Amino acid sequence: GLAPSLVDLLVARCREFSSAPVLVGSDDEIVTYAQLFERAARVAGGLRGAGVSRGDRVGLQLPNCVNWVVAYWAIHLAGGVVVTLSSRSTPPEVDHIVADCEVKVVLDDPGRLTEGAPFVIEGQGEDSIASIFYTSGTTGRPKGVIIRHRNAIQNAENQRRMYAAALGDSPLRSIIAVPLSHITGCNSLMLSTVNYGGTSIIRSGFTVESFIEAAVEHRATALVGVPTMYWRIIRDPAFSPAALAHVKSISYGGAPTPPRLVEDIRAAFGEAALQNGFGSTECTGLHTALPNEYALSHSSSVGIAMPVCDIKVDDPDVHGVGELVVRGPNVTTGYWNRPDATRDAFTVDGWLRMGDLGRIDGDGFVYVVDRIKDMISRGGEKVFSGEVEDVLAAAPGVWEVAVVGVPDDELGERVGALIVAEPGTALDTAAVIEHAQHHLLGYKIPELVIAMTEPLPRNSAGKIVKSQLRQSIDWREVPIYRRG
Ligand code: ATP
Repeated sequence: GLAPSLVDLLVARCREFSSAPVLVGSDDEIVTYAQLFERAARVAGGLRGAGVSRGDRVGLQLPNCVNWVVAYWAIHLAGGVVVTLSSRSTPPEVDHIVADCEVKVVLDDPGRLTEGAPFVIEGQGEDSIASIFYTSGTTGRPKGVIIRHRNAIQNAENQRRMYAAALGDSPLRSIIAVPLSHITGCNSLMLSTVNYGGTSIIRSGFTVESFIEAAVEHRATALVGVPTMYWRIIRDPAFSPAALAHVKSISYGGAPTPPRLVEDIRAAFGEAALQNGFGSTECTGLHTALPNEYALSHSSSVGIAMPVCDIKVDDPDVHGVGELVVRGPNVTTGYWNRPDATRDAFTVDGWLRMGDLGRIDGDGFVYVVDRIKDMISRGGEKVFSGEVEDVLAAAPGVWEVAVVGVPDDELGERVGALIVAEPGTALDTAAVIEHAQHHLLGYKIPELVIAMTEPLPRNSAGKIVKSQLRQSIDWREVPIYRRG
């Protein structure tokens, strides 16, 4: 059976893998499972000394580093609840979170964690709250997603199966370049790696060069990232498939993956198993996964539900498209201190709304059509931004693209595209439009196109921030392409 709490899980793994490396820091510091446990227990003692007791919220605001992971486990061993704070958060953002969940202590000194007599809490149950992750909250103030021990352990177990299928006999060595403060860095990477008995190679941030260097130097066997990360890696002059022959597992998700990119990844990485994964903070990371054998044949799908997870389409239209809703032991019970938001997030029969439109085919393959908030309504006709982006991403010379609704007096919204050309080239807008005309119905073809000279704005998880784009772009001077 599964461990009841993360404390039990850490104790069990540290016994089993005691002398194996669990962490490699950016200065190549190596920490074994036994050392992680000893350090975390001493810092837990320090937290108890500072007055932290069972259920108290403890803020964790450090950049990615070995001490982030030590502090994370220390908070659990002390019986506390981890509240992750981005190291890039502004003081007002931190103040909001600290006040919202009454954080008792914030650990924010990367060099120093106060230690005390080793302490390990007993009797932590699966229903206890393990962490609270504040979502970026593009609308309204950030909400704290409650992750219970059961949710975190179920996700780690689901990931273990995925890794096992891809890695076979190879050990798990993965690179954490995404923020540890996000669910992907914390749960899908760090925690799942501990659960597997693997090694996390920690980097303070993502650059293509440092990522490739870390993967080569530490013989990474598993890569996890948003689609853009792979897009950049395989186009980088420093990329050499031979130097990365040890990579056995490649997972991507967090944002739509253009089918062309899947082909590129397959061509670049040869035999490695490819896995698309779909989920959200509210699902503790992953809810569906596309197994390697379908990576190319079903490249526009995010796969099938994880073994103990359910997914369905709520209130489907004639095409079977509606909001994707999910249920399972990995799914949150709601938001901290926000009964209103919690009520809105669930259907009357208790399924969590994903905020995504999608459909599910007869074999259970799930297709994400668009985020509800990104869908464009052009004169009453629905345009899914993701569909248009997939087409434009495959157009000649296109490097990055975002499709958004542009407010319009006549139609309500028109389709606007923001496109970054491949490095060192100028965008051939006419060629892009022509490509779109061959692949899209008339009303879906972008009518306003801006060639961007700067990379598209992305959040620290690597996703394009469309809300920022919508606010910052002035479309008034942009001509509208009219079709004959
Ligand atoms: P916020 O909800 O605060 O705006 P966010 O969107 O970054 O922030 P997450 O929980 O990190 O919040 O992201 C979940 C969303 O990411 C999903 O609802 C879906 O829209 C998108 N997503 C995740 N995985 C995939 C995937 N494999 N393919 C397509 N979209 C994905």
